[in-house]
Amino acid sequence: MAKLRLNALNDVLHRKPKHMKELQERVSQYFGRNTFNLKIMREYLSEVAYKSVKSAINNGTSVSRDIADQVATSMKDWAISKGATHYTHWFQPLTGTTAEKHDGFFKPIGPGEAIERFEGSLLVQQEPDASSFPNGGIRNTFEARGYTAWDPSSPAFVIGKTLCIPTIFIAYTGEALDHKMPLLKALHSVENAAVKVCQYFDKNVKKVGTTLGWEQEYFLVDSALFNARPDLQLTGRAVLGHAPAKGQQLDDHYFGSIPERATAFMREFEYESHLLGIPVTTRHNEVAPNQFECAPMFEEVNIANDHNLLLMDVMEKVARKHNFRVLLHEKPFAGLNGSGKHNNWSLSTDTGVNLLQPGKNPKSNLQFLTFFINTIKAIHDNADVLRASIASAGNDHRLGANEAPPAIISVFIGSQLTQMLDNLEKSITAGKMTPDDKTALKLDIGKIPELLLDNTDRNRTSPFAFTGNKFEFRAVGSAQNCGHPMMVLNTIVAKQLEDFKASVDKRIAGGDKKDEAILKELQALIKDSKKIRFEGNGYGEEWVEEAKKRGLSNLKDTPRALDVWSKKETKKLFSDMGILTDIEIEARHEIELENYILKLQIEARIMGDLVKNHIIPATIEYQSKVIKNIEGLMATFGKEEGEKFAKTQLLIVKSISKHLNTLNDLVNEMVEERKKANKIEDTRKKAYAYCDNVKVYFEKIRYHADKLEMQVDDEMWPLPKLREMLFTK
Ligand code: ADP
Ligand code: MG
Repeated sequence: MAKLRLNALNDVLHRKPKHMKELQERVSQYFGRNTFNLKIMREYLSEVAYKSVKSAINNGTSVSRDIADQVATSMKDWAISKGATHYTHWFQPLTGTTAEKHDGFFKPIGPGEAIERFEGSLLVQQEPDASSFPNGGIRNTFEARGYTAWDPSSPAFVIGKTLCIPTIFIAYTGEALDHKMPLLKALHSVENAAVKVCQYFDKNVKKVGTTLGWEQEYFLVDSALFNARPDLQLTGRAVLGHAPAKGQQLDDHYFGSIPERATAFMREFEYESHLLGIPVTTRHNEVAPNQFECAPMFEEVNIANDHNLLLMDVMEKVARKHNFRVLLHEKPFAGLNGSGKHNNWSLSTDTGVNLLQPGKNPKSNLQFLTFFINTIKAIHDNADVLRASIASAGNDHRLGANEAPPAIISVFIGSQLTQMLDNLEKSITAGKMTPDDKTALKLDIGKIPELLLDNTDRNRTSPFAFTGNKFEFRAVGSAQNCGHPMMVLNTIVAKQLEDFKASVDKRIAGGDKKDEAILKELQALIKDSKKIRFEGNGYGEEWVEEAKKRGLSNLKDTPRALDVWSKKETKKLFSDMGILTDIEIEARHEIELENYILKLQIEARIMGDLVKNHIIPATIEYQSKVIKNIEGLMATFGKEEGEKFAKTQLLIVKSISKHLNTLNDLVNEMVEERKKANKIEDTRKKAYAYCDNVKVYFEKIRYHADKLEMQVDDEMWPLPKLREMLFTK
C-alpha cells in the first residue's frame, strides 16, 4: 500500500489551481440569485400572497392553505426557470448534518404524458421515509412516523437541479426530531421576553430579533492524500500519525498569504455561497498549516444557522472539484490547533438598537447594562447546560486542551466593564437611593461608550467573551450545528429576562421608582453571578484550581457533560419555557450518547484496522529487510565482526520489535474493552465505558504507532504522513 501513498504524493505535486472563469458581474448583482427571497416573491406572487408570506416571515403568522398553493406554484415556476427538476424538504435531523429526499416535479398524467406539478400540500408538509434518523426512542414508543413542515422564515433555494425548502422535522405526536424546531421556539421565547424588558426603556420597541455571526474554521487536505488515509475517510480525523518536525510554532501560516490552490477553491465556494444568499465576507489563514476560516456578516439566528449548514455542504461539494477535501472535524491532527466555530450573538430591536451595544446616554446604557448583566446571570445559572450544548466526541479534543477555551464555562467582559460592574455593585446601598447616588451612578453609566472605545483587551482563552457589541461563544465545535447551542443560549437568556422582569415589577410595586428598581435588581444579579466572571488566562493550570474553589464545573468529556440533561432542574427549565418536553430532552440525551458511542466505536475500529493491516505488515517487511542485511553482514564478516558492523541494524530490529509487540498487545486489549462496552445495554453506562475504558487506549496506541513511523523506511510507510497532508502544496 505504500504505493498508494507515493502515487498520491506524486498527484499532489502535479496539481494546478483550478480557477473559475472570470466573473463579469459584481457580487451585489448575483447575491441571493438562487434563493426564493422576498424580492423574487414580490415578482412571482399576488399582492395578498406576498403580504401573507412576509407576515409569516416577520411575525411568525401562519400561511393559509390557499396561499400555500399559490406560493408552491410560484416557487416551482421560479425553480424550473433556474433549471430545477426536483424538490426536497431540507431538514436538520439530530445526526448533526442536514438531510434531503428528492422528488421530481413531473407527474405522469396519462400514457406518455406528464406535467410539472407542485402544490401547497407538498410545500407545507412531507413525510420523508425517515425511519432511520435518530429519534432517541420517540417514534418507537409513539408512532413510527415523522414529517417535515415548511419554515417560511428561511428562504427556499436551488442547488444544482433541486429546489430545497427549509423545514422542521417532527414526530406525528408533535415531538421535535430536529434542531430547527426547538431553536425557533427558543428564539421566539427570548424575543418576547426581551421586548417586555425593552418596554422599561422605550415603548416604541415592538420586536426584538436575535443575531448570529459564526466563524467557520476548517482544514483542507488534498483528495489523493485523503483517500490514502482510511481514518480521514471514515472519521474525519487522523487517528495516527507522528507530528511533523515543523508544526505551527513559527506562526507563519496565520494570516499569511493564502496558497493559490486554496484561493481558487475559496473563490468558487464563496461564489456559490453568494448565489445562495450566504453573506460570506471574510477569509483568512488560521494558526495551523492548511487551516482556514471564513465568516459571514451576521444575520438573524435561524437564517444564519441555515446558512452555516448550507455553507458546510457547499464547501464540501466545491472542494472536491478542486481536488481537496474539507475537514470540519474539531481535531483532525494531534499536536496542531483544532477547529472551532465561534458564535457571535446579540439581540437587536426593530428600532435599530443593538441591545448589547453601549448607547449614547445613561438611559440607553442602562438598557445595555440590563441585557449585558442578565446574559451573564443566565450563563452563571446554566453553565452546565451551555457546556452540554457543545459536547461531542470531536469537541472533547479541543475543550481544555490548552488551545481552545477550557471545558470550564466562564464569562470574560474586559477590565473596564469589570470596573463598571464592581462600582455598580458597591454604589447602591440598602434602602432608598439619594439623588446624589443617582447622579453619580448615571454619570458612571454614561461613561461606558468612551471606555469601550479603547477597550482592546480581547481575551482569546475565554469560552464566552464580551467583544464590544456582542457576546462570542467560542467553545462551539467546527462540525456542530450551531442551532443546538443557540437554542440553549437563547432559552436560558429568555428565562433570565423573564425572572428579571418579574423581580423589577415586584420592586416597583413595592414603591421603588423604575430606574431604581432596575439598578437594584442589576446589583443583585451582579453579586449573584460574580463567580462566573473570569478575566485571566483560561488555558492556565491555575484557572482549573481557581474554578474548582469557586465551585464551577469542569466537565471534560461528553458523557459527563451530557448528564445535566437528566437533572430535574434542567427538564423543568426547558419545559417551563416551552422549548423541550421531558420526552424530547430524554430522546436528545440518548441520541447524543449514541452518537458519541458510535464515533468512538468507529475510531477504535479504524485504529485497530490501521495497526493490524497497514502498520504491522509494513513494519515487519522493513524489519525483514534489516534482518536480511544483518544476516548478510554476518555471512560476509563472520559472527563477531558482522555483529559489530550491524550494531545499528540490531538496535533497529530490537526497537521495532518492542514497539510492534506493545502495539499489538494494546490493540488486542482495546478490542477486548470494546467488546465489553458493546455488551452494556444502558446507553449512558456504555458511553462512560467507551470514554473511560476504550478511549484511553487511543493515545497509547498512537504513541507506539508513531514511534514506528519514525523508524520504518519512509519508502515503505503505507499512510500519508501529517507533514505530507499539511505542507505538500
Ligand atoms: P473575530 O475578531 O473573532 O474574528 P470579527 O470582528 O471578525 O471577530 O467578527 C466576527 C463575527 O461577528 C462576524 O461574523 C460578524 O458579522 C459578527 N457580528 C458582529 N456584530 C454582531 C452582532 N451584533 N450580532 C451577532 N454577530 C455579530
Ligand atoms: Mg472570533
